[in-house]
Amino acid sequence: MIGDTPMQTGRNFSPAPRSKQHASPAPDLPAAFHPALKMRPGLLPWASRLVLAVVVLALAGNPLAALAQSNANLPDLGTPAGTLANLDDEAQIGQMIVREARQQNLLIDDPESAEYLESLGLKLSSQAPDSDRQFHYLLFNESDINAEATLGAVIFCDYGTILAADSESELAGVLAHETAHITQRHMVRGALKAEHASLATAAALLGAVLLGAMGAGPEAIEGGVLAAEGMGAQMQINFTRDQEEEADRVGITYLARAGFDPMGLPDFFQKMVQLYGYSETQTPRMLVNHPVFPDRIADARARAEQLERQEPPRHFTDSVSFGLIKERLRVLPAADDFDLRTYYDKRMQAPDPPLSIRYGQALALYQRGHPAEAVTLLKPLVAQHQGVILLYSLLGQAQVAAGQAKDGLATFARAETLFPRNVPLTVRYAEALIKTGDPRQAHALLLDLFNNEEPTPGQIRLTALAASAAGDAGDAYYYMGEYNISLGDLRMATQQLELALASPHLTFVQRKRFQARLEEIRTVLADDRRENGKNPQNSGGY
Ligand SMILES: [Zn+2]
Repeated sequence: MIGDTPMQTGRNFSPAPRSKQHASPAPDLPAAFHPALKMRPGLLPWASRLVLAVVVLALAGNPLAALAQSNANLPDLGTPAGTLANLDDEAQIGQMIVREARQQNLLIDDPESAEYLESLGLKLSSQAPDSDRQFHYLLFNESDINAEATLGAVIFCDYGTILAADSESELAGVLAHETAHITQRHMVRGALKAEHASLATAAALLGAVLLGAMGAGPEAIEGGVLAAEGMGAQMQINFTRDQEEEADRVGITYLARAGFDPMGLPDFFQKMVQLYGYSETQTPRMLVNHPVFPDRIADARARAEQLERQEPPRHFTDSVSFGLIKERLRVLPAADDFDLRTYYDKRMQAPDPPLSIRYGQALALYQRGHPAEAVTLLKPLVAQHQGVILLYSLLGQAQVAAGQAKDGLATFARAETLFPRNVPLTVRYAEALIKTGDPRQAHALLLDLFNNEEPTPGQIRLTALAASAAGDAGDAYYYMGEYNISLGDLRMATQQLELALASPHLTFVQRKRFQARLEEIRTVLADDRRENGKNPQNSGGY
């Protein structure tokens, strides 16, 4: 459903991924901090723009194939209808797209919501035959209803889609459909179809990847980006009807196997059509990109019924997180002049309001500067629902904000014992520790977490802040260096690591670790220079 191509008008980019592949770790360094270096020179931000530009051009049939063909290093393309490139190349494009999305602040910056969407998506992609691939589900800061699959097994979902879903199975249905576009390799086939010279187009696409890695000069890139933006505005590539039907069919299978109601997909679709199908002004992007051809919903329904017949009758219940995250996404992006208090007061008048509404009300109070009132609401909720991590986090945050630092830290400490290494919980705990004057413990908690879970750039930055507040200048610069690496800015990373090495009172281990990391970056930059023979000044940053 849903705008399945990365090149829709306007917003072109998707969120992205954390690579499981790590470069060889420096001594004593959490493996989690390494993946960005894996990216090689193509990780420079402008290069990512170039890649996107060229991909757009290639899809539009621009004769960039010549460029790619002139490159002797082109990898084997395989059969035209098969792979665009190998999955590693595709994953690289996906990573660049995600990085771009982060840089442009297109993603919702909320660890709780991000984790929810990712874990829901992974339940679906783990049903896919090629579930070895690393899928990524990212939340766009966009109130529209839409989801898009892009190269590199990356799926973006507008937060409005979550708000529009009446059940978790509906939301999962949308994600399952997008997941199927990826497992059925529709992006690649679509790219090949868009131009008759299929191989040449694929080559241009690949050439773009290589070119990004090689580092053409900034002027060339500017031109390419401008051209691509122009094209992007006029271009819309939809999947074929066959592909849409296949994604419905395969997606419904994932949905059922993952334990969701297979009717979730046709239900959501039908609701969209009923709500917006005849609207001229208010059509969600999902419907714009998804032709509701005759029989589509009926076919999906028939498929779902068939799957249901194979299973004993089941009653599908939504996870608690689904309801709570929905309220987060109602409250967090709400405009300042939206009267959240009245909104929740009204909803609380319903007989026996559900937990999600109580949580939403507490979050709204916390968010709008009334943390003590939030604490009063949350305490009994935590006591009643002791397995719900989101409640502990919000209570701890509200207590700290209300000046009850000791209680807040106790709430976090208890939750951390109950749910060790939960990413959003630990991040909130660390934030609270920094705020209340114990950055050293925050630093230690984050390092332990990210030895086990790969951090996002924002989380690496938080680690740097913790180190800085703890008075550890060396580590603070070091993690700022890692932050820059994760954003693809190797030059800034070099400067940060040089500052780290110049910091006073380094331990032997720190010095070794910083030196090793700096060496790694310098090697990548030197390779870059050697390969494209360019002045290094031309290949750094915007
Ligand atoms: Zn689709």
